[in-house]
Amino acid sequence: MSRSAHPAGPRHGDVLPEGHYLAPPSDLNALDPKVWSRTVARNADGVVTVGGLDVAALAEEFGTPAYFLDEDDFRARARAWHEAFSSEGIDADVYYAGKAFLSKAIVRWLHEEGLSLDVCSGGELAVALAAGMPGHRIALHGNNKSPYELEQAVKAGVGHIVVDSYQEIDRLAAIAESQGVRQPVLIRVTVGVEAHTHEFIATAHEDQKFGLSLNGGAAAEAVRRTLAHGSLELRGIHSHIGSQIFDTAGFEVAARRVVGLLAEIRDEHGIELPEIDLGGGLGIAYTSEDDPREPAEIAASLAEIVRRECAAANLRAPRLSVEPGRAIVGPTAFTLYEVGTIKPLEHLRTYVSVDGGMSDNIRTALYDAEYSVALVSRTSGAEPMLVRVVGKHCESGDIVVRDAFLPADLAAGDLIAVPATGAYCRSMASNYNHALKPPVVAVRDGSARVIVRRETEEDLLRLDIG
Ligand SMILES: *Cc1c(COP(=O)(O)O)cnc(C)c1O
Repeated sequence: MSRSAHPAGPRHGDVLPEGHYLAPPSDLNALDPKVWSRTVARNADGVVTVGGLDVAALAEEFGTPAYFLDEDDFRARARAWHEAFSSEGIDADVYYAGKAFLSKAIVRWLHEEGLSLDVCSGGELAVALAAGMPGHRIALHGNNKSPYELEQAVKAGVGHIVVDSYQEIDRLAAIAESQGVRQPVLIRVTVGVEAHTHEFIATAHEDQKFGLSLNGGAAAEAVRRTLAHGSLELRGIHSHIGSQIFDTAGFEVAARRVVGLLAEIRDEHGIELPEIDLGGGLGIAYTSEDDPREPAEIAASLAEIVRRECAAANLRAPRLSVEPGRAIVGPTAFTLYEVGTIKPLEHLRTYVSVDGGMSDNIRTALYDAEYSVALVSRTSGAEPMLVRVVGKHCESGDIVVRDAFLPADLAAGDLIAVPATGAYCRSMASNYNHALKPPVVAVRDGSARVIVRRETEEDLLRLDIG
């Protein structure tokens, strides 16, 4: 099945994706711990709970649709990444990729758990600073940062600015000079490796907007230009190869090529750059089919790859940075929906409509992403029914879960939940059809707290000034 971007339109006439055999799970009431956050369970009445609170009470208090984020799980995953990359013999930093999901509470938790933070816009930078993340623990990315964004970042003392073009090198140098600072930078390179899920392409096209190519010599030229500016301090090289990656083979090729550039820089300029950043993209389980690796295993494997490549090039091993976004926040939240219209299509499937849709989860329409779903307001002994969970938008591509099984006695008013929606759902939410973006509610130890409130019609009308 294609994992690449797919036109948002529905597939007509197919019952299941080609090459994909979907069997009903043996127990529709079971909650696979791979896809649900750590504190999710069913209580004695069969109602799903998170952080000790049941979803019926949560829906009553906060409404639906809503994202419920398991704070203990978030902190545990952040800590696991931090600990894995600061363990014995590993010199590394973990930057949480804020684009996956960012709010002030998230920034505070990251700060408390010892992580650093990646931002890729002035808006994300503003949230990071508003919540007290120290500038030196922030990195700024982007292929087209505005002069204003660069100025704000330099002013905030951002620890790394990842430069992405020749123009930006000159622009940033001028800004740093005018502020009287020497700005630390990394150069983003394209290594010609592209990774998605289980495969990677070692000779990927460099036909993309990010980075400076290693092959064509653009990266080496960017190094020369950066070194020529007294107001820029070149700290290292950055590469990011893809998303939802399950093994480190692609990183191995990327690391080899990045280290190759470090060796060239040493030979040409007589300096050994002290840092490399291998980006993010580590995968999570969206369905029971996915088997992500633990942070400790990834850390050991990346550190070993870098050590080996540096030894081969006769270089000191640089400090390593990684930038997991999805792998930290993705599994920590689920979206809670109320079931509305149920439409059985004979010989095909049953369409189950919920009170949200592509405005709160665009990934299915955009990337053909797969998700799981469960009935969470009760258990059921009914037969499994093949369903497609769809939203309420005026668009037939408005699909939340393309293929799944729910109990055949599902009824309007039931609550269903889609797990693993912590990353790239609220952060990519839209106001399509003037939908009101759902709240994010953090749940921990029997208490629930809104960290991003639900939009209101007033919010919409405030922007529309007539
Ligand atoms: C998107 C992105 C990340 C995070 O990707 P995940 O798949 O969420 O881990 C990290 N670094 C860069 C440069 C990115 O563009």
